[in-house]
Amino acid sequence: MKIIDGKLIANKIKEELKETICLLKEKNIIPGLGIILVGSDPASEIYVRNKIKTCNELGICTVLYRFDEKNTERDIIEAIQDLNADDGIDGILIQSPLPDCFDEAHILSYVDKNKDVDGFGIYNLGCLLSNQESILSATPLGILKMLEYENIEVEGNHVVMVGASLIVGRPMAIALLNRGATVTIAHNKTKNLKEITKQADILIVAIGHAKYITEDYVKDGAVVIDVGTNRVDNHVVGDVDFDAVFKKASAITPVPGGVGPMTIISLLSNVVDRAKERMNK
Ligand code: NAP
Repeated sequence: MKIIDGKLIANKIKEELKETICLLKEKNIIPGLGIILVGSDPASEIYVRNKIKTCNELGICTVLYRFDEKNTERDIIEAIQDLNADDGIDGILIQSPLPDCFDEAHILSYVDKNKDVDGFGIYNLGCLLSNQESILSATPLGILKMLEYENIEVEGNHVVMVGASLIVGRPMAIALLNRGATVTIAHNKTKNLKEITKQADILIVAIGHAKYITEDYVKDGAVVIDVGTNRVDNHVVGDVDFDAVFKKASAITPVPGGVGPMTIISLLSNVVDRAKERMNK
């Protein structure tokens, strides 16, 4: 069985992005990412810091707006409108989750559809659903790139997507359907989960429960993609019990070092794609 090295693949994509950014700079285009961080969730702080660090390495300019619970929804919307109007900004990222006092979907609806590099807005989700993909959200895009890099065939294969969130499970399932996979989506209310996951040629798990998927959930030779990022005793572990499933899978992603690095690089790849469109305008 093979361990799919997300870090390695992400680094290769990073080098390609660096070259593209150099070409853009020759045309006086510097890709720009606007980030909105609300509150002080420690995980969000780390995610934003890592994204800014990678942007700096690549030569993507970043603008960070910080808000807290004392700010109003209007303050955040005004920042989005500033970023929408800024020609130097190609993408806008609203770091999720927002504190409970804010209506995340409402705030997100103000992001210009062409700068919605997270692909969470209704327009881009609609494009995905109608098989006219525009901007695909970062985690599904990263997983597709990973499967492509590893020459893992999607068309005609049965993919079981465990988890149906708006940021991972749903867009992932539809993107795979658009590529000719037979897709089953499972969630919290699914009955006989094991019987379903055992039918998967490709099993993708995004549920947020540490090591939930054990070997009895997996068919011999399946490809297993673990999106889960769970903190247990100061360690990060996936939703899949790696040591148990490793023996059965033909290929498997580790946590950390699997889907995580692919998500960040795919977000930045969406920003660079937007900057290329700016250049072509
Ligand atoms: P989420 O919004 O909480 O959604 C979890 C989904 O899993 C829901 O659809 C839920 O079903 C389903 N679910 C929960 N427990 C289940 C169970 N026992 N059996 C079957 N389905 C179950 O989570 P998320 O935002 O998608 O994130 C999932 C995990 O991925 C988290 O650990 C998160 O940190 C991680 N993540 C990692 C990355 C990365 O880049 N590596 C990116 C995003 C998320 P219902 O809909 O029925 O409630």
